[in-house]
Amino acid sequence: MGGESRAQKGPRSDYPLRAPKPVGQMISKIYKDRINQFYAGGQYEHHNLRAMMNEAVVSGHPHVQLSVWHAPDQTRPTFKNATSHEFKKTDVGEWFGPSWTTHWFKVVLKVPSDLKDKRLLELHWDANNEGLIWNEDGHPLQGLTGGGERVEWILPDSFRDGKEHTIYVEMACNGMFGNAPGGDSIQPPDPNKYFRLDRAEIVAVDPDARQLYIDVWIIGDAAREFPQDSWEQHKALKICNEIIETFELGNRESLTACRKIAEDYLGTNVNSAKVYGSGKEPVVYGIGHCHIDSCWLWPFAETKRKVARSWSSQCDLMDRYPELNFACSQAQQFKWLKELYPSAFDRVKKKVAEGRFHPIGGSWVEHDTNMPSGESLVRQFLYGQRFYESNFGSRCQTFWLPDTFGYSSQLPQLCRLSGMTRFLTQKLSWNNINKFPHTTFNWVALDGTQVICHMPPAETYTAEAHFGDVKRSMSQHKSLDQDATSLLVFGKGDGGGGPTWQHVEKLRRCRGISDTVGLLPRVHLGNSVDDFFDKLEAKADSLVTWFGELYFELHRGTYTTQSNNKRDNRRSEVVLRDVELLATIASIKDNSYKYPKKEIDSMWESVLLCQFHDCLPGSSIEMAYRESDEMYAEVFKTAEGILKDISKVLGVSQAQTTTVSGGFALNTLPWHRKEVIDISENEAAVACGNGPLLKLRALKASQEDALVSVQQVSKGVFVLVNNQLKVKVEAGIITSLYDRLAEREVIPKGQKANQFVIFDDKPLYWQAWDVEVYHLETRRPLDSSETKVHEEKKHRVSVVTHTKISDKSSIKTIITLTAAINGQPSHVEVSSTVEWHETMKFLKVEFPVDVRNTEASYETQFGIVKRPTHYNTSWDMAKFEVCSHRFADLSENGYGVSILNDSKYGFATAGNVMRLSLLRSAKAPDAHADMGTHHIRWAILPHQGSLSHVTVRRGFEFNNPLKLVSSVSPTTTVAATSEPPVYLTEDSSPALVLDTVKRGEDDEDVSRGELPVKAGRSVILRIYDSLGGRARGTVATTWDVKRVCKVNLLEDELEEVVIEEGGGRFAVDLRPFEVATFRLQLA
Ligand SMILES: [Zn+2]
Repeated sequence: MGGESRAQKGPRSDYPLRAPKPVGQMISKIYKDRINQFYAGGQYEHHNLRAMMNEAVVSGHPHVQLSVWHAPDQTRPTFKNATSHEFKKTDVGEWFGPSWTTHWFKVVLKVPSDLKDKRLLELHWDANNEGLIWNEDGHPLQGLTGGGERVEWILPDSFRDGKEHTIYVEMACNGMFGNAPGGDSIQPPDPNKYFRLDRAEIVAVDPDARQLYIDVWIIGDAAREFPQDSWEQHKALKICNEIIETFELGNRESLTACRKIAEDYLGTNVNSAKVYGSGKEPVVYGIGHCHIDSCWLWPFAETKRKVARSWSSQCDLMDRYPELNFACSQAQQFKWLKELYPSAFDRVKKKVAEGRFHPIGGSWVEHDTNMPSGESLVRQFLYGQRFYESNFGSRCQTFWLPDTFGYSSQLPQLCRLSGMTRFLTQKLSWNNINKFPHTTFNWVALDGTQVICHMPPAETYTAEAHFGDVKRSMSQHKSLDQDATSLLVFGKGDGGGGPTWQHVEKLRRCRGISDTVGLLPRVHLGNSVDDFFDKLEAKADSLVTWFGELYFELHRGTYTTQSNNKRDNRRSEVVLRDVELLATIASIKDNSYKYPKKEIDSMWESVLLCQFHDCLPGSSIEMAYRESDEMYAEVFKTAEGILKDISKVLGVSQAQTTTVSGGFALNTLPWHRKEVIDISENEAAVACGNGPLLKLRALKASQEDALVSVQQVSKGVFVLVNNQLKVKVEAGIITSLYDRLAEREVIPKGQKANQFVIFDDKPLYWQAWDVEVYHLETRRPLDSSETKVHEEKKHRVSVVTHTKISDKSSIKTIITLTAAINGQPSHVEVSSTVEWHETMKFLKVEFPVDVRNTEASYETQFGIVKRPTHYNTSWDMAKFEVCSHRFADLSENGYGVSILNDSKYGFATAGNVMRLSLLRSAKAPDAHADMGTHHIRWAILPHQGSLSHVTVRRGFEFNNPLKLVSSVSPTTTVAATSEPPVYLTEDSSPALVLDTVKRGEDDEDVSRGELPVKAGRSVILRIYDSLGGRARGTVATTWDVKRVCKVNLLEDELEEVVIEEGGGRFAVDLRPFEVATFRLQLA
């Protein structure tokens, strides 16, 4: 055997035999942290990408010349007014203020010749407050946010001619979240804030550096946020590090090389909207949005400017980004823009016509849905949809309330009756007890009507369009079994002006990643919210369902905070109902009386605006409430004027005192009433009948009208008795309430009703918004002084008690019992005057009742909502404070107790204790919220049987007492109007409520011309089933009706209704909790 070697067979390899050098693994954390250093401020900012962002910067004379005019006080003058004043020279570094003032700057720009050929020239303006750029001709161009946000305005090419060009900047001395003093934005505003003009300069931006910055930011996010066990994460980290190594400070060509490397991860199309043209199926649909609170940490007056700033910015941005679509809600805000900024409105209108700017929501404002009445909700849609239709030619399909604090169980029905099949919200992701289990589902109303609801899984309506937002659109999606698509609602809210160029650029890269590398959910821009819902609607029957209220497990204090505002809301709703009903009657009775549509519209628009989700709930600053006070005062004044005019038509005038024969009781409720009414200081009468004017008759101590008495049975213990109730009062506490007809004690032995209790009220953070569960542990009953007789008349007796809350606060309570009238259930009325000067305390009044049920009932819009009285599960427990309208009721089989109120919305029933919430004393964002005097009424109404129409009607009556009027014209005229012109007949289900009577919006003698006029005169009736059962009845009218139609809330015809032979009558047949609207066309 020889020793020679044989050549190896097989493929040749260049793989070195020996390792030439050591190579280590990337230490993930260190290489990730390095990415941020590439563009961060701080010690490397002059040596990293940041140092190459700009090619040149010029400021001061002669390139940027500044002069200013200070608007006096807190006025917000128009462009024309402002620019008519003399401007005085000013400069960068000057301070402007105080808070809420306005300063107009004349800015004369002259581009230096060596910059005129630069690729991108911008004005950078930063005064750390909000601003609006106007051109010389008075057209608003674009908003500015300040504090580094939205500080750039692109110079038009016409400015590159080396000549001087003038623009104006309207500076508002507030930040995007108002004027909070420190870092805590909900603290009451500092009235003395000043703002420094930090920058006013012409900048030649390097577009490559800017684009590279976004490239690295997003790929860096992939490196940071993709899972460590994915190759996509490792590749992102590697690419970022390659880019950092390729970058050379000062070498602009290295920027191009860096961007080329980024293409490996992002693809080659991210520099334009072309990136969205891959044809691959997206799952996340991005829509630009700017959530502008109509008031909040700033007054309504400032919102009008925020709208102009924000929407001008969006029109400008859309011109540069063809994929950007923008959805915006709140008809009121469009109306402000139309009236105050006509050229900006025209620009918006053009974008709407192009299909880029999408009016959405269908409602007047993004309102609260807990507290407004049913009719208010209807009007939110009626006024909203009519505005959209008349200004943009179409109605909205999607109800849009991303930020409102909980959602009433009747909304799906009202949405569908307003032409909307979809609903978007997001707020329930803030629940702090239970996580809401669905992203996309069918939401079902009390009456069974459904809408498709989507809650964006990124859990924000002001997304920054981060990589993480896109990622969470899938990872937090809770309805993937049914559908994986979602909406991403992006753009800065409030003063932030909506999407920024950064947002749009980031999303291009996110899409690039999905198509190039994968793993990230594929985002798409260019669609509308309705396109998104269209796809869902096709598979609606497979979506899960949620029945009833979307209860928000947070912000429960908003049922009580800013008590005066809530009382004014309730009163406005009552007075508007009266005005519309009586004006309808008057306009049909007397052709010369013109239905006051303009005044009614303006009243409704104010009331609807004040129902905005930070106004009515009580979460705005004090300035906003001074504005809403003025709006409500105007509503009441207008109503008074209208009612005076109507009285003339009815032949009566308002009276302080009258006689039985010369007087009437003005009634606006649609059922037979029989009540005691004062006709002079010491005399009362019984008002009885149907219709607007009830006749009076003397109150006699007969069997029918039993009297009432008060007796001191032992020292400080009083018994008030009528022929139905016997009430024992001691030191303001009701220790016994005996129902003489039912032979039943209402108050459990040893327990105390009408007991005031006070709680410590320090929620985790959101003071005006939240009352937290632990406040219940701090309950302290308040002691009262000795009770005394207050009034002792044959028809009414009352006792008075003073309760000391603290050295500063006290309550005067009058407990009244009125003579009971046969057949009319009697109640105990309590009227209190509270002097309230507390800090972080919550005042309530309790009613333990001898009734057992695991569920209590609460009046809600057009119906009843039931909620647990126990804490079995965390979902039950979360409802420890709930919203109620005119009554709450606890009934067992055969018997129950209702608590009525005239102005309150917060309630709780725990076991057998019913608890009405009266006053809070939050100190933020309004330091003086609820301080002062309050008049509050409530009543205890025991009743035989379960919750019934008796309580529903008494709730109406308690809020709408009869008013004394006296005849001013021959009795014949008055008699004619004392018949009800429209009513439900006696044999109709008593659960039916004829709630609203008004004229048709577009009747020829009513219309204000927004939409096509309809010939003739018509009356709209809204009837609902109040108790949750099938309800049938007959509507009868004395008007000459030639045709009846069932219509929707927008008064579109749904179906014709047969008028019974002989005329004037038609049948109604309603589903449980159905809201039905009818149009009566008059002959
Ligand atoms: Zn909001």
